[in-house]
Amino acid sequence: MTDKDCIFCKIANGEIPSASVYEDENFRVILDMGPAAKGHALILPKNHFKDLNELDEATAAKVLPLAGRIGAAMKKSLGCAGYNVVQNNGVEAGQTVFHFHVHVIPRYEGGPKMVEWEPGSSTPEGLAETAKSIAQGLN
Ligand code: 5GP
Ligand code: ZN
Repeated sequence: MTDKDCIFCKIANGEIPSASVYEDENFRVILDMGPAAKGHALILPKNHFKDLNELDEATAAKVLPLAGRIGAAMKKSLGCAGYNVVQNNGVEAGQTVFHFHVHVIPRYEGGPKMVEWEPGSSTPEGLAETAKSIAQGLN
């Protein structure tokens, strides 16, 4: 269930050392080596999944509660005011390491803007049509 060529498999399973925040039988949580803010953490499953669509249900069910625990610990211990939970799928979405991971990024008062976008425009008809397209993709 691991990929011998995957850097996050090696980090998650302790073959490559990392600044570890937390470990259990399913996950290791490490600090990102290029942090967007102090304490920026990555939740890595120990098994290899390329992205969210490969993730198994048992792992998926555990990952969001863990992100919440890490975020709460950041608020308590680092004094951040909030945090973002970010998860990229695909090159165009900014994924650079193809082992599923969740970013937990502390947000400090007065800190830089990130994980934000300029709101676009919409019409009720356009939204209805797009919603219908996505719904069809669920089938
Ligand atoms: P992605 O862009 O795929 O969502 O996020 C990959 C993240 O992993 C980036 O923020 C990058 O800084 C981080 N990263 C890549 N390689 C390593 C590594 O070897 N060690 C650590 N600690 N972080 C890494
Ligand atoms: Zn992997």
